[in-house]
Amino acid sequence: MTWDARQRAMLAEMGFRLPAVSRAVAPEPEPEVEPEPIVVAAPPPAIVRVVVPAPAPAPALPSGFAGLDLPALREAVSACRGCGLCEQRRNAVFGAGALQSAQWLVVSDPADEADDAAGEPFSGEAGRLLDRMLAAAGQSRAGEGASAFVTPIVKCRPPRGRAPQPAELDACEAVLARQAELLQPRLVLALGLQAARRLVGPDAAGEPLGRLRGQVHRWRDLPLVVTYHPAYLLRSPADKAGAWDDLCLARETSKT
Ligand code: SF4
Repeated sequence: MTWDARQRAMLAEMGFRLPAVSRAVAPEPEPEVEPEPIVVAAPPPAIVRVVVPAPAPAPALPSGFAGLDLPALREAVSACRGCGLCEQRRNAVFGAGALQSAQWLVVSDPADEADDAAGEPFSGEAGRLLDRMLAAAGQSRAGEGASAFVTPIVKCRPPRGRAPQPAELDACEAVLARQAELLQPRLVLALGLQAARRLVGPDAAGEPLGRLRGQVHRWRDLPLVVTYHPAYLLRSPADKAGAWDDLCLARETSKT
């Protein structure tokens, strides 16, 4: 497998180490040597063809948040009591990134304890990795030129980090739907299993993340790509190569 300079730089940005570049040499008689240990090469990065499913008609927006602009929606979420998750949150985590329109809407698993305290998504080490992943794909969630908006699948952290219940996901989808309507993204990127299963829909029930990656789904009328949560990648860096494949798929899909 060969990698051009740009691909190597992007993978290095995500902290994925590639084998050194080898140089061609004149063939010599092969001496008898001990067999080398097998090195598993990183999977290929390039997504050549992307097949996007035909758009399905988007369901009508749930009521309650439908008429709000982004600042008003943020305000409404900070005071929301739409489900039981409001009881134990310290802060609702509305999301952050692009202020007007976004190329990518990045939807993650629920906030962790630090983000619940900060009221901001990806405020720690996982956020730094997410920034590097976005940069490798030509996206950013920071500054005036931000092109991505990052938000959790439910805006209030479930107690003790448990998975959100279906009724809680149902209640909070009204917020996410309004965010998508306001930001008009070209693509939705799901980070983590809980976000992925919810956005892919009933067909994803019980499926592992690996079965949901590598294809383009639909959420409402938007293409949806699934990848690993950055907090998982910090624990399992070998899967950064798979995340790179997912980012390539997302990047190609958002161009179509
Ligand atoms: S999780 Fe969503 S619906 Fe539930 S209280 Fe928080 S903002 Fe409201």
